[in-house]
Amino acid sequence: MTHPNQSGAVAGPRRKLRRMRVLYYNGAGGLEWRDEPEPVIRSRTDALVRPIAVSTCDLDQRVIRGAVPLPGVDAPFAIGHEGVGEVVEVGDAVTGIAPGDLVAIPYHVSCGICDRCGADLPLYCRATAAHGVAAYGIPFGGGYGGLFSDLVRVPFASYALLPLPPNVTAIQSVSVGDNLADAWRSVVPHLRRYPGADVLVMSGGTIGLYSADVARACGARVVHYVDPDPDRRRIAAELGARTSAPEEFEPSAHEYQIALNHSSGSGRALRNAILATAPGGYVESSSFYFNDIELPLPTMHMKGIHFSSALSNARSHMPEVLNLLSSGRLHPELIITDVIPFDSADQAIPTAGYKPVCVRRSSSGIEET
Ligand SMILES: [Zn+2]
Ligand SMILES: [Zn+2]
Repeated sequence: MTHPNQSGAVAGPRRKLRRMRVLYYNGAGGLEWRDEPEPVIRSRTDALVRPIAVSTCDLDQRVIRGAVPLPGVDAPFAIGHEGVGEVVEVGDAVTGIAPGDLVAIPYHVSCGICDRCGADLPLYCRATAAHGVAAYGIPFGGGYGGLFSDLVRVPFASYALLPLPPNVTAIQSVSVGDNLADAWRSVVPHLRRYPGADVLVMSGGTIGLYSADVARACGARVVHYVDPDPDRRRIAAELGARTSAPEEFEPSAHEYQIALNHSSGSGRALRNAILATAPGGYVESSSFYFNDIELPLPTMHMKGIHFSSALSNARSHMPEVLNLLSSGRLHPELIITDVIPFDSADQAIPTAGYKPVCVRRSSSGIEET
């Protein structure tokens, strides 16, 4: 089997124990390239993927800026779990993908076979996540490395990896395996329950922006976007949302059938989202919480409000997210703040905007823009 090497030329059979670069978070707000052995195919169901467009998700941004402690996680660690890659090599039991394909990569590692994967809970896969969530780029469970690297091993590749539609670029798809899937699952199932609903987005990052974009694309009547950041409010307005700063938001002024809390763990934002929800409405929260937060349970009970706080089972939603992207109805180019050469990730990410994408050429030589 042959494969493209880093310069795009075709090399001979993959030699084991070649070296590669891996981007590490150093635990003190910095990123650094380290030299490590390349991964190799260990199982017939593995693939090796060369990441070609990788971003930081909202959690990465907070980790890099020192705002989020990760209990039980020691730095330094290989970072990056949101991205798109080019298939370089596949095990002989892998079907549906081949070397040269551009693929979306889910942030979590899952088998696609067990009962939990079958129940659309691949984040809790029995084969990979028995001792905690198994993901790239954050060492919660298993050493799968980070996507800011020259090569990553993807187990259960036939299930995990989804080829990009031909009319979608790697940059447009960079968040399909994490933040965009998270946005999608927080709003689309509820829009199917309440077509044309009014949607409230309490935001503190890009999941909120993606949610506003998805909500408009999928038929929300009004999208009200609340964020302390004026740049993100400006982008949300371009995406068709009404916008407010948090201090301007009055939860009793309107009722929303769908209210989202993507505000980076703000208890006040969550409370306001709940108080602004219409009877029978849905409150979805993607935020990480590190403390107990008091909820307005009397209001929730009397209004019959459904509340969910959860991580995303991204892989289950990715086919529909890719279809929506392919339809041309989303505007991810408005949300991405910086496009950075992959080699510059260590220096550029800490000083870039909240949604940088690091890119390099695929072996076909197509410049991803
Ligand atoms: Zn993430
Ligand atoms: Zn599984």
